[in-house]
Amino acid sequence: MDKLQQFAAGELDTLRQKGTFYRPRVLETEQKATVIVDGHEVITLSSNNYLGLTVHPRLREAAIKAIEKYGVGSGSVRTIAGTMSLHVELEEKLARFKHTEDSLTFQSGYATNLGVNSALLNPDDLIISDELNHASIIDGIRLNKTPRKVYPHKDMAGLRRVLEESRQADATKVMVVTDGVFSMDGDIAPLPEIVSLAEEFGAFVMVDDAHSSGVLGKNGRGSVSHFGLDGRVALQVGTLSKGIGALGGYVACSQDVKDLLMMRSRPVLFSTSHPPSVVATCIAAIDLLENDNSLVERLWENAHFFKRGLLQLGFNTGHSETPITPVIVGEGALAMKFSTRLFEEGVFAQGIVFPTVPDKCRVRTIVTALHTREELTKALNVFEKVGKELNII
Ligand code: PMP
Repeated sequence: MDKLQQFAAGELDTLRQKGTFYRPRVLETEQKATVIVDGHEVITLSSNNYLGLTVHPRLREAAIKAIEKYGVGSGSVRTIAGTMSLHVELEEKLARFKHTEDSLTFQSGYATNLGVNSALLNPDDLIISDELNHASIIDGIRLNKTPRKVYPHKDMAGLRRVLEESRQADATKVMVVTDGVFSMDGDIAPLPEIVSLAEEFGAFVMVDDAHSSGVLGKNGRGSVSHFGLDGRVALQVGTLSKGIGALGGYVACSQDVKDLLMMRSRPVLFSTSHPPSVVATCIAAIDLLENDNSLVERLWENAHFFKRGLLQLGFNTGHSETPITPVIVGEGALAMKFSTRLFEEGVFAQGIVFPTVPDKCRVRTIVTALHTREELTKALNVFEKVGKELNII
């Protein structure tokens, strides 16, 4: 007990000295554009609620009806007694939405990456991964004994080099894995080049569309649809907790891959399936997206407006191409100070420091379809005031 306390206190001291220790702020309202956090009314630029679906009336209604009809829990893992008709319906809808043969849902996007990576690759295979891929992809890769190689971020000459080396190594299967939209920088993977290279070398591709679903492609179908690559990406992973507004993850894939994952994937085998209300919410979200592109359009109008505003003020927004816009400041302590001052002035934009980003600490902003022009203009004014005060611009 004493040793544990000493360890925790020592680690925390180090974080405090670096100025990067914080306790998560507490949201006291629903996740809208203007919220109450830690008792303050603020405009939030911190959620992943791209389309505002966390508060959509049709999704609320679907959740309530599902609770009334099916109760609050599934009561079992998928492979014993926890596959409900709602799970099957959602998986059919997701497959149609993603233009794949089938799909399998998981309890979260994180669990999906763990479950897919660890179940499909063997020690005689090879995983090739972009250096800025999300932590959940990396954790999934760590769970198996498959050798891995990393290529520099979006560097296609680098990917070719690694694929050439892998040919020499004679791996049985080679998987190239990339985020569709990179979560900390908001840039888009060069998927057409990745897919062509993979095809040239007999590899297959897995893309993580956590930040692309509901954002990129026709009616928010994701990066594969955005680039017209239907049928050429073996594994489209995504989350149901960002653009889709609720909770969960999925992989859109062939029926055989789904059947195998059901037998082998540890989060499927050993963790209880989604509660019916969450599944019903996701079904309602996919129905909504299939029939209405207006929220996706609104999201992009807002993203362009806000990004333009930050650039005009002279902030460093890196290589962002999507509604994720980082405001890069460098030092971790400055990023946290920037975030704190923004909050005091009425804007909630979380500071992001090591280990989430290796360097180039930042405040990350995400606009949603729910933000009004008035809210975004007010937020830009606060960024200008605090940016000048801290000599960032
Ligand atoms: N992949 C990426 C690229 C992500 O950004 C995230 C969420 N931060 C996840 C997976 C995990 O998704 P979830 O929050 O649903 O577990």
